[in-house]
Amino acid sequence: MLAEIKGINEECGVFGIWGHEKAAEITYYGLHALQHRGQDGAGVVATDGKKLKLHKGLGLVNDVFKHAKFDELQGRAAIGHVRYATQGDGGYDNVQPLLFRSQNGSLALAHNGNIMNGHKLRGKLEQEGSILQTSSDTEVLAHLIKRSISDDYEEAIMEALRQLVGAYAFIILKEDAMYIATDPRGLRPLSLGRLGDSYVAASESCAFDLVGATLEREVEPGELVIINKDGIRTRTFHEPEPRTMCAMEYVYLSRPDSDINRVNVHASRKKMGVELAREASIDADVVTGVPDSSISAAIGYAEEIGLPYEMGIIKNRYVGRTFIQPSQELREQGVKMKLSPVRGIVEGKRVIMIDDSIVRGTTSRRIVRMLKEAGAKEVHVRIASPSLQHPCYYGIDMSTRDELIAANNTIDEIAEIIGADSLAYLSEEGLERAIVREDLPNQGICKACFTGEYPVKERGQKEIEYTRL
Ligand code: AMP
Ligand code: SF4
Repeated sequence: MLAEIKGINEECGVFGIWGHEKAAEITYYGLHALQHRGQDGAGVVATDGKKLKLHKGLGLVNDVFKHAKFDELQGRAAIGHVRYATQGDGGYDNVQPLLFRSQNGSLALAHNGNIMNGHKLRGKLEQEGSILQTSSDTEVLAHLIKRSISDDYEEAIMEALRQLVGAYAFIILKEDAMYIATDPRGLRPLSLGRLGDSYVAASESCAFDLVGATLEREVEPGELVIINKDGIRTRTFHEPEPRTMCAMEYVYLSRPDSDINRVNVHASRKKMGVELAREASIDADVVTGVPDSSISAAIGYAEEIGLPYEMGIIKNRYVGRTFIQPSQELREQGVKMKLSPVRGIVEGKRVIMIDDSIVRGTTSRRIVRMLKEAGAKEVHVRIASPSLQHPCYYGIDMSTRDELIAANNTIDEIAEIIGADSLAYLSEEGLERAIVREDLPNQGICKACFTGEYPVKERGQKEIEYTRL
């Protein structure tokens, strides 16, 4: 039920390669580099030019492909996907790429984002006689392409994409071509690169580094890239609007070694720390960060105020993520198992603790308590992004407004709830300065979860509130 209101979230990673004899294996390696974007399912579809073959499953890339027979995934083109499932949409059928077979050829799709009008389009398609097999919005695009009246496949894809409202990065594979597209605002990241004579595409450039490819550029808003035996071409399926790349990609989601829209993620996080220090510094003895996503910002903060950055908190790498646990009790337990304080560093000290964001407040509350139990004299929490007060409609699992601690409490109240001696967030301007490069064109960012100003709205969207059902 939640999925119906919220739309299915596809906070995931996609990868594609065209023109390489080991396409499926390279895709598998690429998915490893994107594993942080989704741990609930993974899959690869490869084509030898005649057929599309699929291998997918629930779980981590390593587990899904442990017994995969790569000689059955032969061919010079492949696409892959890692999936982050939200509550209620975690089944095998929704694991991507989705593969559709029909008499006049097959079609595989890998998608990251959220189609805001997905449920409406689904209703319309069903009324018109389509039978949808999954609860994934990705399938909607496949049906729209199939139902297009155009005989020209490219036109059919463009016509289908024009009907979607939302944030998306798609890689589509047919026997004879690969199609790559992002929404007219370019909300979700999708990069293009080269590996020798082959073309590659991925949610993040860290996947290129792993397979030895070089990053060429970001897919432009409203652009459809077509790759086939004749090479690479580009078309515009929608008049591009100013880009609004998701700011949370820089704050939390992406890997620090990725470049998103020509800006390195680690460098932007470090700048967030610098900006935060300029806006909200305080007398203290050490600066520490919550591993892993806050370390870059903590280093920037420490450098700016001239204090050492110390490893005051250690992460156990073998514990799964805590954010999505179904109950608060399990989430609390998850944080405890995942993070531990380093007594020798924090004992008797005034500690500045940097985190990238506060969603429900579980992590900060637990860590402040942990640091104090380990002997910290004071714990000052500094958040390297503005306060999260609004839900994301563009595919990032941000919990409901009811659960967003900053939507319902003042900064002082939050400080009290998490037990911090003081609390400050980065300003919106500070965030903008840390990410946006004035010397490059079209560098706009989406900050809707901080500001409530949504760059893409579906008609009636305002009334659709995120409620936990
Ligand atoms: P919470 O414990 O609910 O306040 O969540 C805050 C922590 O979750 C922060 O330390 C972030 O690193 C992380 N985080 C922020 N946004 C997300 C997201 N969309 N999905 C998963 N984790 C997130
Ligand atoms: Fe990213 Fe927030 Fe915009 Fe969603 S609302 S796309 S999380 S910046």
